[in-house]
Amino acid sequence: MTSTEVVYSEFGWADPPDDVTAALEGEVTCDIAVVGGGYAGMAAALRLAERGADVVLLEAGFCGCGASSRNAGQLGSVPGGDPQLLSALHPRRFQGLVRLAEEAVDFTEKLIDRHGIDCEYEQTGNVAAAVSPGQLRIAKKKAEIFQKAGVNVEFGDGRDLGLPDAFLGGMLEPVGGVMDPGKFALGLRKALLASDVKVYEQTPAKAVEPTSVGVIVAAPRGHVRAEKVVLATNAYSRELSIAPKRLAAPIWVSMIETEPVDRLEATGWTSRSGLATQHSIMESYRPTRRNTIVTGVRQLQVARGTVGARKPDPAVVSDITDGFRSRFPALRDIAIQRAWGGWIAMTPSWLPVAGDVARNVSYLIACNGHGLAQAPYLGTLLADRLVDGKGHDDLDTVWRQRPRFAPALVFNAPVMRTMWACDRRADRKIS
Ligand SMILES: Cc1cc2nc3c(=O)[nH]c(=O)nc-3n(C[C@H](O)[C@H](O)[C@H](O)COP(=O)(O)OP(=O)(O)OC[C@H]3O[C@@H](n4cnc5c(N)ncnc54)[C@H](O)[C@@H]3O)c2cc1C
Repeated sequence: MTSTEVVYSEFGWADPPDDVTAALEGEVTCDIAVVGGGYAGMAAALRLAERGADVVLLEAGFCGCGASSRNAGQLGSVPGGDPQLLSALHPRRFQGLVRLAEEAVDFTEKLIDRHGIDCEYEQTGNVAAAVSPGQLRIAKKKAEIFQKAGVNVEFGDGRDLGLPDAFLGGMLEPVGGVMDPGKFALGLRKALLASDVKVYEQTPAKAVEPTSVGVIVAAPRGHVRAEKVVLATNAYSRELSIAPKRLAAPIWVSMIETEPVDRLEATGWTSRSGLATQHSIMESYRPTRRNTIVTGVRQLQVARGTVGARKPDPAVVSDITDGFRSRFPALRDIAIQRAWGGWIAMTPSWLPVAGDVARNVSYLIACNGHGLAQAPYLGTLLADRLVDGKGHDDLDTVWRQRPRFAPALVFNAPVMRTMWACDRRADRKIS
């Protein structure tokens, strides 16, 4: 197989299911409307229904079709952001984020069990992995900071951690692991469809308008009258005028998958842990149950125009393939069979955000690269907040009192390109 035979998919790990629900027509009323059916929206809707609320969920495509079925499937147990900066400048908040990250993994593992979702979850842990001595120092420093904060992580040599030969070592997060995120998303969708939630797929909300007696959510062929609304629209949020301005930048992230590999252990990767390098823009690697390797990120592309359907750029796929070839020289003959991508909502802090954007309209957006655990957990906590009228420590950690955000200067094409170029220069020094 050659690179020209790579299949460029419009979807990630999950194709559209054959039971996509009908679009909303006419008027429906409910207690709470959830807009967006990713992990966050589905988990919020499920919890609200469990707590006795009458819930409607509107999803533009099919539930799970966004980042939730396109990600790398690495369930990580440490928070995003820069631990050195956070622990030094905001020590109390850092402790809160650490606790949130750990609780989120535990919650998601239980969610998988509770709904009996077969998403091929392997409790392998994940490794902040190093491909150079400089990256090893970064990983060691991270491990020291997290250990000091009481997090269960260990720093180790690549051979002791069962990493592929090109990886020198890193920080192992033993809690968490890897899964098929599409199966997780579709499993949540199945639970949702079996619940009392009224689910309208193929229904993009066009406007959310608070009124004196509730909120109206307008869709192309109907509308919802709700007492309260949850926005769980992630990277697509800027298409809705009510969403907080400059909340998060939509960034396109590409992934590729190899053909099945018959000699994974021979590469030294005995742990099967998910890996993320310490570049300024990381590379992620993980094995799958079908014996393939999924790798990606390495380049981030800013959104121009509408945040909608898209396929990866062949030049980016070729660059990610170069990364794979250099980290796995013994697998040079292994072909790349598939490529896809997804929109991620990036905050400059790499941390999720939740709050109220208007009376009776709450939002939970931007779990960045940690949403596999944090989006369903925070979605559930937000649902509890709407029912009980009070917060939870883990939700309060990311809660914004006012929906005001400064411009994210870092997320523009020249900066992204420069970060990529610095990473490649560092790579050339290694080789
Ligand atoms: C390539 C990639 C790799 C990643 N890797 C990892 C990883 O390994 N580990 C990890 O923890 N996280 C990872 N992430 C991040 C993770 O996938 C997200 O944080 C998580 O899926 C966010 O869930 P969500 O429900 O907030 O958003 P989404 O899954 O994006 O869901 C938002 C939903 O809202 C719908 N929607 C939007 N606007 C409207 C509207 N107006 N009306 C109706 N519906 C609307 C969309 O169609 C979509 O289904 C990755 C993301 C990407 C893209």
